[in-house]
Amino acid sequence: MTIVTKSSYVDGAFVALQSSNELLENRNPSNPGEVIERFVRADRDLTEQAIAAARRAAPGWARSNPQVRADALDFIGTEILARREELARLLSREEGKIVREALGEVDRAGRSFKFYAQEVLRAEGEKYQSVRAEVGIDVFTQPVGVVGIIAPWNFPIAIPAWKIAPALCFGNCVVFKPAELVPSSAWALAEIISRAGLPAGVFNMLIGPGRSVGDTIIRSPDIDAISFTGSEGTGKQIARLAAENMTRVQLEMGGKNPLIVLDDADLEQAVDVALNGSFFSTGQRCTASSRVIVTAGIHDAFVARLAERTRALKVGEALAADTDIGPVVDGKQLEQNLSYVTIGQQEGARLVCGGERIDNQAGAFYFTPALFTEVHPEMRIYREEIFGPVLSVLKVHNYEQAFAAAEDTPFGLSAGIVTTSLKYAEHFKRHSSAGMVMVNLPTAGVDYHVPFGGNGASSLGSREQGTHARHFFTRVKTTYQLA
Ligand code: NAD
Repeated sequence: MTIVTKSSYVDGAFVALQSSNELLENRNPSNPGEVIERFVRADRDLTEQAIAAARRAAPGWARSNPQVRADALDFIGTEILARREELARLLSREEGKIVREALGEVDRAGRSFKFYAQEVLRAEGEKYQSVRAEVGIDVFTQPVGVVGIIAPWNFPIAIPAWKIAPALCFGNCVVFKPAELVPSSAWALAEIISRAGLPAGVFNMLIGPGRSVGDTIIRSPDIDAISFTGSEGTGKQIARLAAENMTRVQLEMGGKNPLIVLDDADLEQAVDVALNGSFFSTGQRCTASSRVIVTAGIHDAFVARLAERTRALKVGEALAADTDIGPVVDGKQLEQNLSYVTIGQQEGARLVCGGERIDNQAGAFYFTPALFTEVHPEMRIYREEIFGPVLSVLKVHNYEQAFAAAEDTPFGLSAGIVTTSLKYAEHFKRHSSAGMVMVNLPTAGVDYHVPFGGNGASSLGSREQGTHARHFFTRVKTTYQLA
């Protein structure tokens, strides 16, 4: 089969291919010998061109008719949903999540565009009476201008969608940089956007490395705001550099999300919630639960049943219908998972099951979900983000200890509790310092129309998604007028 070569999208056109281009190969983690597509790597020059094109387009797009924006967003959402099967299979091939999960992600991307197609037309602005006689006050919002969007690999279409859709909705131009591990979903999304009737320069996509393309975006004085999702290290670097230009930032970063299981929990429900939150999507979700804090009365039964269910999970090819857990995204992440398994054993935790690479002819990055018990709070496997299916179980004696353990982290993205006690559920919802709290539900798995984000080392800036996205993608103006 011929392998197609694709390129970035700048100023209303896909960039012409040249023989001197540096190429990036997109490989399938279920079969690393398979090259899905090739991409021309963008460089700093092309990134500058994209930013300049967005700058030129910004004044016109800011004043564009909201119906034009609504129709464009609706077109994009409709096409994503119509092509859900094809896009989901592409996503599974490049990122490794199983098709059922990829379908959910594609649907979420399509629905995000549809949501913001409606949001464009919602009434906005406030009127106030002034404390001065005969003065009227109008408060309204305006676009920020040119927004840099930098995305991670673990949600190749949904994260770009939930950033690009509100950016365009509120009248901003976009310079989008996907992660280099997942260019195919990003390219498919850009191709759909390229046919949505947007003026040249309003939307640009650059496939290239963080150290050059990403770095040019975050250092540019012509970028007005940066919406980033990725690791804590990159997020901090962005915050530092953005401060130089006083660029607005929205950073969504790592997590070490706790799930509490209390003695009064329904055992089967607790195991379902832990299994889903910790291991599904190969544990590669920023909202995954990587620590389960269990009270002593249910601990042994919970661990026994969770181990039984974990061993029964089928790890294998992302496209196969009977696979529960797809491959790890690449060899580097696989090495990271394996090294944390070694660290956990050296620290004295007990590896109950999993934590191994599955040998296979294709060289696929298959890793069996790992369950650790006899974990102590100071262990690295309990404190650091692993970003893989490696779960630490901590035993405690009561809700108060469980709550204190859940809070003992610099992160604060998502947190969950499994309990039949209204008292503890309510207390946890109110007092957890995570940005998202789940009761009798996995820590991962959220809706597309409500705020998403965390606190502490997990997030900086205003919330993503839903109506709250307006705060990041607009500026507020207050006007006073003498009657
Ligand atoms: P990463 O930080 O390595 O990369 C994220 C993006 O930043 C990529 O597009 C990358 O090319 C770019 N980048 C890297 N270095 C850069 C630089 N110096 N300047 C500008 N851009 C640069 O993260 P990743 O490995 O792709 O994603 C995994 C991480 O993302 C995990 O820590 C996970 O928790 C986090 N994540 C968080 C959320 C959330 O909403 N909080 C969601 C998904 C993933």
